[in-house]
Amino acid sequence: MAQADIALIGLAVMGQNLILNMNDHGFVVCAFNRTVSKVDDFLANEAKGTKVIGAHSLEEMVSKLKKPRRIILLVKAGTAVDDFINKLVPLLETGDIIIDGGNSEYRDTTRRCKELKEKGILFVGSGVSGGEEGARYGPSLMPGGAKEAWPHIKTIFQSIAAKVGSGEPCCDWVGDEGAGHFVKMVHNGIEYGDMQLICEAYHLMKDVLGMEHDEMSKVFQEWNKTELDSFLIEITANILKFKDSDGKHLLPKIKDSAGQKGTGKWTAISALEYGVPVTLIGEAVFARCLSSLKEERVQASKLLSGPEVTPFGGNKKAFLEDIRKALYASKIISYAQGFMLLRQAAKEFGWTLNYGGIALMWRGGCIIRSVFLGKIKDAFDRNPDLQNLLLDDFFKTAVENCQDSWRRVISTGVQIGIPMPCFTTALSFYDGYRHEVLPANLIQAQRDYFGAHTYELLSKPGVFIHTNWTGHG
Ligand code: NAP
Repeated sequence: MAQADIALIGLAVMGQNLILNMNDHGFVVCAFNRTVSKVDDFLANEAKGTKVIGAHSLEEMVSKLKKPRRIILLVKAGTAVDDFINKLVPLLETGDIIIDGGNSEYRDTTRRCKELKEKGILFVGSGVSGGEEGARYGPSLMPGGAKEAWPHIKTIFQSIAAKVGSGEPCCDWVGDEGAGHFVKMVHNGIEYGDMQLICEAYHLMKDVLGMEHDEMSKVFQEWNKTELDSFLIEITANILKFKDSDGKHLLPKIKDSAGQKGTGKWTAISALEYGVPVTLIGEAVFARCLSSLKEERVQASKLLSGPEVTPFGGNKKAFLEDIRKALYASKIISYAQGFMLLRQAAKEFGWTLNYGGIALMWRGGCIIRSVFLGKIKDAFDRNPDLQNLLLDDFFKTAVENCQDSWRRVISTGVQIGIPMPCFTTALSFYDGYRHEVLPANLIQAQRDYFGAHTYELLSKPGVFIHTNWTGHG
């Protein structure tokens, strides 16, 4: 009998938690998994006492679903998604809905949307953020694809999503084709940037100011009461004060070699592909790459010299405030760059993206959740066509208020030899973006000199000329 509101395939950690979340909100979910024994395990354990039902085959699962059928896939990204789609399609009818909630590549989602449209199936690719905890108690959800599906899934999605303010859900329709997964990818890239910025602040506190872990923890706790109020600042304060079973801080015992799964890299690749200067996320990815060269760095540290490190002679409290402002300004640049990439992707693919809505989707439930995202939402509410976040009055003033501190921190760090790839690239971007004239006239002249690539004169826009720079031939 058709009794389930929705089916979910993929009973790993994310799938199980999302099912329990949907159950909590009154929806009847039918669970299925490739390794079918996991269905019974789940029903007998985690889902015991709930309204969740199970199926031992896709046919059984489909027969238990109300129409139009709604099926969420939360399986490993890649071929597993295509395999399930291929098995499901013969069992479904026109107007049924398949949703991929995994971390799929946005181009795969666009392809699947197109292929399934031809078969009358509505395909949705949804970013799901917030990890296990988010999936269980309120993730940030970023659905995109076949818009006709939205009225049929909106209630479920918005009920299970995280809520902010006066109960606004961190979930709205993102846009066509792979837009949901593209936005999720940019979210992850921004997450890389936010994490690296915090690491640079930590490095400066530790190696310029010589601060102890508990003291640094308190500073991050204080910062969490300012414009920097966010999940990542909060957990950093907790991590810094955490003590191991021997009573010593755990953090300095952890190997300084960062891993990555690839979504930051994808964001940087997209930025290069579409010609958008998303420099901060790129540097954050490269910082992880450099960190992973641990053995090489150990050798280099014995051979390569830097400036002599002398004890900090300035006003510590003032410098800490400078670091906080440098972090805030750099963060504004990172989000400005992220939204530039979204804007360009929308142009490339003909998507209509709701930028304020995206900021709201990230405002809660996900790893980059912060009060700051509310300010971004306000900026796009004030002007939905805002070309760049830096041109909004609030952010323009915020950066202006921070820039002296930002420059002081970078100068001090450079003098002492502290690597700050994201602080510095953010400032370079800001200085580049605000310059009416950049030295690219010389690049054009060089290109014309060696390759006859021509150049355009400021006085004659649209006219491209070549000069015989050497006077030969
Ligand atoms: P996962 O380890 O990525 O995937 C495990 C699930 O995929 C299991 O149900 C597994 O079935 C199934 N699966 C793997 N290979 C398969 C194949 N070739 N054919 C059919 N099924 C296959 O699980 P997860 O961590 O819960 O993540 C699920 C999705 O959400 C992924 O796309 C992930 O990237 C994304 N995501 C994860 C997080 C997170 O914090 N973990 C956050 C956001 C998004 P069996 O049980 O039969 O092996």
